[in-house]
Amino acid sequence: MDDPVIRLTDVSREFPADPPVRALHRVSLSVAKGDYVAVVGPSGSGKSTLLNTLGLLDRPTSGSYRLDGIETTTLKDGARTRVRGSRIGFVFQAFHLLPHRTVLENVALAEVYGGDRRNRWRRAERALERVGMTHRAGFMPGRLSGGERQRAAIARALMGRPSLLLCDEPTGNLDSRNTALVLDLLDELREQGHTIVVITHEDEVSARAGRRVRITDGILTEE
Ligand code: ADP
Ligand code: MG
Repeated sequence: MDDPVIRLTDVSREFPADPPVRALHRVSLSVAKGDYVAVVGPSGSGKSTLLNTLGLLDRPTSGSYRLDGIETTTLKDGARTRVRGSRIGFVFQAFHLLPHRTVLENVALAEVYGGDRRNRWRRAERALERVGMTHRAGFMPGRLSGGERQRAAIARALMGRPSLLLCDEPTGNLDSRNTALVLDLLDELREQGHTIVVITHEDEVSARAGRRVRITDGILTEE
């Protein structure tokens, strides 16, 4: 049996304040390879804290987080950064594309850590193929529709062949037509075996995932 991609065990995150804020409380979650999980919950419930934890951008106060079987909570900063760079692809609501670079450059230049530099441009072209954006490779992001920008951002996230695609409100800036296109793409990526976690407050988005978990006041429950 493979290790699950994500295994959180009793993860808590408290922020120092008076009284302390308990953003995650004893969260346990296991996500297998190929799972597509939506995380829902009201504003302030702990979704971003969970995403930051899963993305190795924040450390739990207590508990264990194994990513591909690697215990991440005890890694030093450099090792954590390498694990993040090689195993996690991020997709954000606001796309975060470089405005003065072409789509292809945005994808190819994303890779800061490791990777095989010689094949970088070929792999960027293939990533664009996978999101149906080959015909926009030479465009500047400003000339793209919102849906195309997000597809370019997803191609960038796929560049390093991550084990985990972590999406934070990926359709939050899109109209309904472009939302549908991006959700279709996530379905295709799921079919290709990608492991996807999507944070969203939109029912339309969470309905597409195979599995839904809810966070309320830092407590996670399976739906
Ligand atoms: P969501 O993304 O679901 O809106 P968050 O994870 O951003 O929720 O926040 C969960 C709780 O933790 C909220 O009460 C928020 O105010 C608090 N919180 C988040 N980040 C910090 C921080 N850096 N310092 C103090 N409190 C924080
Ligand atoms: Mg948030």
